[in-house]
Amino acid sequence: MPAPAPAITVSIVIPMFNEEAVLPLLVDRLRPLADGMGATYEVVAVDDGSSDATPVLLERLRREWPQLRIVRLRANSGHQAAISAGLQRARGDYVVTLDADLQDPPEVIPEMLRVAREDAVDVVYGVREDRSTDTAFKRGSARLFYKTIRRLASIDAPVDAGDYRLMSRATVEAVNSLPEHNRVLRFVVPALGFPSAAVGYTREVRAAGTSKYPLAKMIRLSVDSVTGFSLAPLRFATWLGLLGGVAAFGVLVYAVFARVLGHALPGWTSTVVIVAAVGAVQLLALGILGEYVGRMYAAMQARPTYFIAHDSLESAVGSAESPSRDGADQPHA
Ligand code: UDP
Ligand code: MG
Repeated sequence: MPAPAPAITVSIVIPMFNEEAVLPLLVDRLRPLADGMGATYEVVAVDDGSSDATPVLLERLRREWPQLRIVRLRANSGHQAAISAGLQRARGDYVVTLDADLQDPPEVIPEMLRVAREDAVDVVYGVREDRSTDTAFKRGSARLFYKTIRRLASIDAPVDAGDYRLMSRATVEAVNSLPEHNRVLRFVVPALGFPSAAVGYTREVRAAGTSKYPLAKMIRLSVDSVTGFSLAPLRFATWLGLLGGVAAFGVLVYAVFARVLGHALPGWTSTVVIVAAVGAVQLLALGILGEYVGRMYAAMQARPTYFIAHDSLESAVGSAESPSRDGADQPHA
């Protein structure tokens, strides 16, 4: 009974959280480009629970841009969850994900498509060749982030590739089928091992509005990246424990000798230092353990990381089977 699905070559998934300032600029640049691409397309704007005028603007834009599709999440679920929602809903043979703020120039999309077809690869990463427009802090922290995760997790994620990438239908299906929570796509996708290529681009400045990635969200992303791919921190705790054990043994030997040789030990300083050090190491180990237990807890709850409130495609088709979808497409999304 489903209406014949229009064949869509490219889906462009764009997560948006309070992007009212940048939205008109984005449309001005993206639309002529997409229309001139020579391929059927849809733009899947994932409104990540925006509280500004973003939903209103999107609704207005959709009236004169039939290829624009709005997927609204019930609550702000985060950049990665918003992309996941978009991937779940996108229908294209190829799916491109990019930020709304024009830091990822949309002009690269046709190039990605060409590379995917000509080189017959499943994934084309957008790699930032020049990040001079980012702040020194952002660049430094990003570099450290990629290096650490490549080392810890030994996955071959391209350095300086963010979430600007093109994926084939097969790749998108593979990502959608993962049961993982809080997945960090820029590492999940390379870990899948599909044939890939890269296209370089220059990272531009945010066209308007302010960053939706405060330090707390950046830290969360880093922790999710590491705990999602590596047990190294747990082993680090073990090593710290071993090191502490060796040190304690040394202190013990010293204490026995001092006792035998009859040196009066002042004792106070060393005791305090040891107690403090051991306490700190224990708390650190407990914290690390907690991150993994937390991940397991989330996985056991199997609560979706986002809920779709509304998909303009469904309201447009007037599909009777699910007039208002209340949940994410799958329990593990
Ligand atoms: N974003 C989102 N949900 C969030 C935070 C960000 O959908 O909770 C979107 C945001 O609208 C943008 C993209 O994710 O399209 C990247 O965010 P931003 O440009 O603020 O991050 P930055 O470039 O500063 O790291
Ligand atoms: Mg940005």
